[in-house]
Amino acid sequence: MRVWVRWSAWLCLSLMLWTVAAESTHNHPNRTESTTCSICVVAHSASPAVSTWHGAPVFAAVALFREEGLVAEARPDLSHLGIRGPPTA
Ligand SMILES: [Zn+2]
Repeated sequence: MRVWVRWSAWLCLSLMLWTVAAESTHNHPNRTESTTCSICVVAHSASPAVSTWHGAPVFAAVALFREEGLVAEARPDLSHLGIRGPPTA
C-alpha cells in the first residue's frame, strides 16, 4: 500500500472520529440555539426524518462484452542452463 493512500485513509478516519466526537459532545448555551441546530433537532425528534429521496434505479446497457479467445504462447525457460557455475569438488 502506498504511503499517501495510508495517510489519506488515516486522515479520513480521524476526521470521521472527530466529527462523531464533536456531534455527540456539543452543547448550546441556551435553548433557542438548540432549536435551530440540525444535530439537536434530529437527535431529539421522535421519528427519524427522511432527508434524502432515493429514486428508483435505472438499468441501462452501457457496453457489450465480447468474449475473445486467448491463446498463450508456451516457451520453455532455458535461461538458467547457461549460467550454471562449475561444480566444486
Ligand atoms: Zn446542537
